[in-house]
Amino acid sequence: MTIQKALSGNDERTYSVASMRRRIQREKRQQTQPQEQQKFARDVTIPEAITVQELANRLAERAADVIKALMKLGIMATITQTIDADTAELVAAEFGHRVKRVAESDVELVLQDQGDDADVLLPRPPVVTIMGHVDHGKTSLLDALRQTDVVAGEAGGITQHIGAYQIALLEARHGFDRITFIDTPGHAAFTEMRARGANVTDIVILVVAADDGIMPQTVEAIRHAKAAGAPMIVAINKCDLPAANPLRVRQELLQHDVQVEDVGGDVLSVEISAKTRKGLDKLLEAILLQAEILELKANPVRAAAGVVIEAKLERGRGSVATVLVQRGTLKVGDIFVAGAESGRVRALIDDRGQNVPSAGPAKPVEVLGLTATPQAGDDFTVVENENKAREISEFRRRKRRAQVAAATGRGTLEQMLENIKAGQAKELAVLIKGDVHGSVEAIKGALEKLVLDQTEVKVRVLDAAVGPVTESDVTLANASKGLIIGFNVRANPQARELSRRDGVEIRYYSIIYNVIDDVKQALTGLLAPALREKFLGNAQILQVFNITKVGKIAGCKVSEGTVKRGAKVRLLRDNVVIHEGTLKTLKRMKDEVREVNQGYECGMAFENYDNLEAGDVIECFEVEEVARQL
Ligand code: GDP
Ligand code: MG
Repeated sequence: MTIQKALSGNDERTYSVASMRRRIQREKRQQTQPQEQQKFARDVTIPEAITVQELANRLAERAADVIKALMKLGIMATITQTIDADTAELVAAEFGHRVKRVAESDVELVLQDQGDDADVLLPRPPVVTIMGHVDHGKTSLLDALRQTDVVAGEAGGITQHIGAYQIALLEARHGFDRITFIDTPGHAAFTEMRARGANVTDIVILVVAADDGIMPQTVEAIRHAKAAGAPMIVAINKCDLPAANPLRVRQELLQHDVQVEDVGGDVLSVEISAKTRKGLDKLLEAILLQAEILELKANPVRAAAGVVIEAKLERGRGSVATVLVQRGTLKVGDIFVAGAESGRVRALIDDRGQNVPSAGPAKPVEVLGLTATPQAGDDFTVVENENKAREISEFRRRKRRAQVAAATGRGTLEQMLENIKAGQAKELAVLIKGDVHGSVEAIKGALEKLVLDQTEVKVRVLDAAVGPVTESDVTLANASKGLIIGFNVRANPQARELSRRDGVEIRYYSIIYNVIDDVKQALTGLLAPALREKFLGNAQILQVFNITKVGKIAGCKVSEGTVKRGAKVRLLRDNVVIHEGTLKTLKRMKDEVREVNQGYECGMAFENYDNLEAGDVIECFEVEEVARQL
């Protein structure tokens, strides 16, 4: 069974019509097809979706003939139109060609690492992740280590947070002159990312505060490091404190199967103070020594492959991902797949905020040019052309959805709430979309933790990702009878349309506490009347005028609903909220008006805010009091 069919499992109709057509076609072919045509039968690979032109190319048939074949099947398509794999298969059969659907194995084949011969491998810097319990000094240590960077020191230390950075050493030691560090956020909600962090690293530094000893997150970090098979270096921090007891730390580590050198084991341990910088050089030495043992090497001369460390949707810059290159060299202009997204590298920016033309092994860089936001931990692979990139990303998107859908139970939302009220064990399915990874993870973490507070009722997070709410999010939420939470992001028009059709609720928030509070109340069946906002309409800014004494006025067209004077407004750029306030003026031609309907143009200005740009959307809404229900 193909992924497509697996996905449309609840849509028997499409499936059976397609297979019926195929059968009829097959029978017709057997009756009418002249034998010699089969001599030219070729094997063609078809992705889940393909344009008519591309299909014609792959079949080595004229596009006009393909269009004719489609017409015979009752499908009117133009040359640029995209058709699905079922249809493409019918067309191919019409010409007597054999079809091979893009299967997982094919996709994996494309991305498979061929492996490099030993003679093309060159040493590369080690990649280090710092882990440990909250407040034991991870951030302080990263900062302190960063200050040892000779280049940053010379340049005045201007650095940029991109989730990872590289320091240059004064002189090469053990064959290395650079070390790459990955920032690890300390909050409990980031456990998942931290787990991924361990998988991209060569070495894990386990920070343990000498005055506090082994704590729950220390144990967790040990587990992650072991699972990833990454060697560990123990940094016993805060040794400047009078209460410091490094000996106790070493002994406690024994209970968790970590044997440091002093007690006869092979794990390096260093006593440090991130505050006084004591022992930092010893720690660097330990990292480099460990790196030498690992014989870290990579081939820099090949198409790049790596991993997404961090990804976010940024105002004005679109989707931005920090990528750690693991093999090859990433260059501006390269076409790539990042998880289920794809794109072309528009620019590469390093941890000092500099544009760079390329990035080699172990180098973290910010990549601009993504069409959407991948997830932290996604792999990043350069591929030969855009078709391939699209094929792979489409395939992965379907696969991901299929996996989630397969793990999904059924039941209506009302039913769910009824059961919750009746005190029976149930769960509430939510899909979270937000503007930055941090908020998304924080909401996810907090919602999942609600489970612990209340033993019977739980929240199941279907998906949590950065970016606007899309059609596929709505489809996924619908399949699980779930609810969508948009945190500082909005649904695109297609998604909004689909959510209305399928009755999937999308709730927008800009305060994390409100999300948690609403969900908590829903879970306890205690939804009280509350203020709730009602969407009125959207206006697209076509042009911004600067009028003396008045300031900036946006020339807009109402693209949806109605905009009203006195209503509240939000300014959206790329579906991300960048300002919330009130409307100062609403004009039609020269007159101030009460409201403007869809399709009409108007002039709008905000109260005390004028960072308006053509292409922005002004969202208009009212706040009303309603009985709360999810
Ligand atoms: P994280 O949560 O692991 O990132 O820990 P932080 O780096 O934020 O540090 C937590 C607290 O410990 C802060 O108040 C730091 O100033 C303090 N701290 C970190 N390292 C040291 C150290 O070596 N000595 C002392 N005395 N305090 C430290
Ligand atoms: Mg920290």
